[in-house]
Amino acid sequence: MDIKAIDKEYVASTYARFPLSICAGKGSLVYDENGKEYIDLGTGIAVNSFGVADESWVAAVSEQLSKLQHTSNLYYSEPCATLAKELCTRTGMKKVFFSNSGAEANECAIKVARKYGELTKSAEHTTIITLKDSFHGRTLTTLAATGQDVFHKDFLPLTDGFVYAAANSTEDVERLAADNKCCAVMFEVVQGEGGVLPLKPEFLTWLRDFADKNDLLLIADEVQTGNGRTGELYGYMNFGITPDIVSTAKGLGGGLPIGATMLGDKVKDILQAGMHGSTFGGNPVCCAGALNILSRIDDELLADVKKKSKYIFDELTGAKGVKSVTGLGLMIGIECERPASDIINECMDNGVLVIKAKQKIRLLPALNIDFEQLKKAIKILKEACAK
Ligand SMILES: *Cc1c(COP(=O)(O)O)cnc(C)c1O
Repeated sequence: MDIKAIDKEYVASTYARFPLSICAGKGSLVYDENGKEYIDLGTGIAVNSFGVADESWVAAVSEQLSKLQHTSNLYYSEPCATLAKELCTRTGMKKVFFSNSGAEANECAIKVARKYGELTKSAEHTTIITLKDSFHGRTLTTLAATGQDVFHKDFLPLTDGFVYAAANSTEDVERLAADNKCCAVMFEVVQGEGGVLPLKPEFLTWLRDFADKNDLLLIADEVQTGNGRTGELYGYMNFGITPDIVSTAKGLGGGLPIGATMLGDKVKDILQAGMHGSTFGGNPVCCAGALNILSRIDDELLADVKKKSKYIFDELTGAKGVKSVTGLGLMIGIECERPASDIINECMDNGVLVIKAKQKIRLLPALNIDFEQLKKAIKILKEACAK
C-alpha cells in the first residue's frame, strides 16, 4: 500500500508533509514503514510529552477506555472533575473549561475576556491586545488573535477586536490600550511558531502591573509552553507572574486531544450554564491521559528538563554553522547558516527528526528523553549545522 500516494489523493492538501510515514515507536524512538529508526526531537509538535507508547500512560488510558469512553457533558464524570481539581491545585487557578485543542482553549479564553469586559467596563470593551509574531490557532477568531499576516490573508474578514503590539514593547501596549476599548492582553511567554522567542522577564512583570492598573486580563496561551515544556509546570511560572486565564493543550494529554482553559479568581464565575460548551470536552479517556501526564511532571522531572535544556544550549551555542539558540526548557529554536529545510532533511537521513519554526530549527523532545539518545541526536544535528 502506497500510503503517500493515497494520502496525497484523498487527504486535504493543507500539510506539506515530510516524505516519511511513521508507523510505530517506543519512547523517543520512532520507526518508518521500512523499520528505519529515528530519534524524535519533535514529539508530534510538543504533544507526546513522555514519548511514544509510554507504558504508564498507555495503562492509564487503556484502563479508562475499557471502563467508559464518553459521557457527554450532561452528566458528571470522575476523570474530568479530578483533572480540573489537579490543574487548579497545581496552578492556583480556580476553575477549568475543557475542550479538544489549543485553538478551542483560546476561543474560550477570548469569550471569557469579552464577557468580563462587558461586565466590568462596558459592552464595547471587547478588544484584546495580542503580540506580533504570535500564534494562537487556526479558527477564524484565533487566527485574528494571531499577529502574523501570512495566516490571515486567505480568510478575510476575520473576527474583529484584535490589535497587535510588538513583542516586549511597553509603548505599543500603552498606546493600543489608550486607543481601544480593551478587556485583555494575550501572549505566549515563549513565542513558539513565531521563532521560539521568549518574552523579556521585565516586559512580563511590567505587563502584569499595567494590566492590574487598567483592569485588563492577562491571558497566557500555554498551548505549547505548558505542561513541563519550559522546565516549569507552566511557562509563566518561570517569570514570577500570575495570569488571569491560562489556556493549554498540546502536551497535556500526552498524545490525546484535550484543551483546557484555566480561569483565575477574577473570571472564575464569568461562564454560566449554557454560555459555552463542547461535546467532547472533558472526555474521560483524554482526561485519564492528562492526569497520568500531570502526575509525572514533578520537581525531579522539571529539574531534568532544565538539565537537558542546558546541555542542548551548551552544545549548540557558538557551534559551527549556528547563528543563535533561543528558547526555554525543552522548547528550543536554532538559527543556522544553512537553510533549515536542508538541515531537517539531512537529520532525517541520519535518523533524527527535528522540526521548523519560521526559518529556525525547532526542538521539542520528550520531557523524559533518554540522555544518551539526546546526545546522539544533538551530535547528528550539530554535524548537519556545521556543513
Ligand atoms: C499549537 C498552538 C495553538 C493551536 O493549537 P491547536 O491544538 O492546533 O488548535 C495555539 N497556540 C499556541 C501557542 C500553539 O503553539
